[in-house]
Amino acid sequence: MTESSSDPRPLRLARVREHLREAGVDTLLVGHPPNLEYLTGLRASSGVLLLDADRVRLIVDFRYAEAAAVAIAGLEPAGGSMVLAERSLDEAAAEAIKRSGGGHVGIEAAHLSVKRRDWLAAALGGRAGPFSLVPTERLVERQRLVKGPEEVASLREAGRRLASVARDLARWVRAGQRESDIAAELDHAVRLAGFDRPAFDTIVASGPRSAMPHARPGGRILASGDAVVLDFGGVYDGYCVDLTRTASVGPPGPDLERCHRAVLDAVEAALAVIRPGRLASAVDEAARQALARHGLEGAFGHSTGHGLGLEVHEEPRVGRPVGGVPPAVLEPGMAFTVEPGVYLPGLCGVRVEDDVVVTPDGYELLTDAPRSLIVV
Ligand code: ZN
Ligand code: ZN
Repeated sequence: MTESSSDPRPLRLARVREHLREAGVDTLLVGHPPNLEYLTGLRASSGVLLLDADRVRLIVDFRYAEAAAVAIAGLEPAGGSMVLAERSLDEAAAEAIKRSGGGHVGIEAAHLSVKRRDWLAAALGGRAGPFSLVPTERLVERQRLVKGPEEVASLREAGRRLASVARDLARWVRAGQRESDIAAELDHAVRLAGFDRPAFDTIVASGPRSAMPHARPGGRILASGDAVVLDFGGVYDGYCVDLTRTASVGPPGPDLERCHRAVLDAVEAALAVIRPGRLASAVDEAARQALARHGLEGAFGHSTGHGLGLEVHEEPRVGRPVGGVPPAVLEPGMAFTVEPGVYLPGLCGVRVEDDVVVTPDGYELLTDAPRSLIVV
């Protein structure tokens, strides 16, 4: 991230600060690495950001001192500072918080372990002390849910590159090939396409194993008649994209053909629903109804999609409504996958996955590659 007028970080910080006031928090302690990256631009496996109404303090260990100095230099030059943790991040954070005298310290309830929370509470003087820890939910995540133009640009480029890998899938899927070897070639292709790394462990699941949605590639050797589910992703400029296609080794049998047709219908039905104002759960419902028309609603056991961004699974949830959690209402800038699947245990599985970003009048497809069954 560079210091320029188009730097998105000041706006992101300002928006989170508005939520701080609403949440009754004086200082927010941000330790979840994707949240840290979103707010500061620092890509680090660990670090702590202390965000107050009028300053930011970025606490890192020596590994990230240089990167943090660069990040903080472009960030609120008037009030930003970097703290180098001598012993542990939490000790340095506690010391820095104590210097402010007292107040409500927001912690990320979804990310801070009970052990760290208890340590922090004790270090800040316990119940009788001048500080109270306030569990917070989604203060940063709710900003990350709607992507800014610079984030959409990264996702768009990432999607374009991943689609180019998808168009080459037939090169690696062959009878006699081992699943794990195909996965290794796919990972290599993802890196050659310009990605920093795969976004998750690549899935290559063949034959009866294709009916296991999250099968890990193993030693199974592809044979004629197999369905092969290939699910892979990459991280580009910090942003994750995720794509699945299904192949048939030799001419597809009737089960595989029928399942693939149903899944394509479900993808199209789900995409047709996407526009601002619709519920994310309606996208899931449309996919399920399409599968039901093929008599396959019972063969789909996961959500239709998940949000994409700095993490490969983030908000919005694109699934059935969950009790107590209001379903997301789609807004321009939300990015997510559409990935219905059909799994017939012992026989075959099919999944087709594409990535979209919601636009003012519908959606933009990020991963434009043929969805047809890849027959090799
Ligand atoms: Zn996937
Ligand atoms: Zn996915």
